[in-house]
Amino acid sequence: METLPAHPSSGPLIDTFGRVADDLRISVTDRCNFRCTYCMPAEGLTWLPRSELLTFEELTQLLSLFVRLGVRSLKVTGGEPTVRADLPKLIRMFRGVGPDLDISITTNGMLLDRLAGPLAEAGVDRATVSCDSLLRHRFAEMTRRDALDRVLAGLRSAEDAGLAPIKINTVVIAGTNDDEVVDFAGWARATGYEVRFIEYMPLDADHAWERAKVVPAARILDAIDAIYPLEAASQSAEPASTYRFADGAPGAIGVIASVTEPFCDTCNRLRLTAEGAFRTCLFALDETDLREPLRSGASDDELETLIRDAVWQKWSGHRINHPDFVQPARSMSMIGG
Ligand code: SAM
Repeated sequence: METLPAHPSSGPLIDTFGRVADDLRISVTDRCNFRCTYCMPAEGLTWLPRSELLTFEELTQLLSLFVRLGVRSLKVTGGEPTVRADLPKLIRMFRGVGPDLDISITTNGMLLDRLAGPLAEAGVDRATVSCDSLLRHRFAEMTRRDALDRVLAGLRSAEDAGLAPIKINTVVIAGTNDDEVVDFAGWARATGYEVRFIEYMPLDADHAWERAKVVPAARILDAIDAIYPLEAASQSAEPASTYRFADGAPGAIGVIASVTEPFCDTCNRLRLTAEGAFRTCLFALDETDLREPLRSGASDDELETLIRDAVWQKWSGHRINHPDFVQPARSMSMIGG
């Protein structure tokens, strides 16, 4: 195998393709209170024992290091992040080491009715809430929880707490909820939310993913544009391509076309799992354990070297569309979406 040149020992986190990584997703728990069919088995997964989870102090120490290495935005995720006890306390600790960080949370919204206020007070800037159907029975089928009303209440609390702009993550699965994309667009217009349609990815614990169930983002946009004409909004480093309504209505539409139009060449994302595994790609087959060195007293300089090494070796892109694609052993909830 070709040996890579040594990584730079200072400056931003950079890989051999010149991409700078400055966006970190931290999974604070592998547990979830939903059982979405495209993510987890009905019976759940074997949860990590508490001793294997990074503590608040360990998570904060690592975040502090990442901030020093140039990370500018943090997404707190899971599992379901709101089921981690005392989450507002952890957010306050995160805010302490990253006063200028853009901190957002990705949640299923189930517990936001009581947590949105405390999370905003502790330092969360904005929320992304997952919602795959606006129909109660279908929502219940897809998440295996009859909780649409709770999620809608959670969204209202998020608005009241100022966790804006609110984004909605909607995974679109052919034959399941693809008939709702125009309804979701109407909802975006009525609420001002940005609804982001995510292509179904091969990251489900049941390994039931099939290409035929992926609804291409282009088809989603065409369906919406035929009813509510869209215009492209300016592009940022976000994975979503964003569109506004041409008639000036509030709200926005985003598409995350990870399968049909991968955006790996501009990927700036890094992930830390709840037990301290550092991943440079959602689909990575390798990860770097940071917990063991952290617990055996590694210095920040030593941890920095591990992190720089891993980022330097980030691959050019995921292999979903290649014949040699191998689904990672971990499902989305264990990685931290
Ligand atoms: N529990 C939180 C939530 O519901 O947003 C955070 C974690 S969840 C794993 C993050 C996002 O990943 C959710 O929007 C979820 O719908 C999405 N997701 C899970 N499995 C997926 C898959 N196989 N393909 C595409 N998106 C998926």
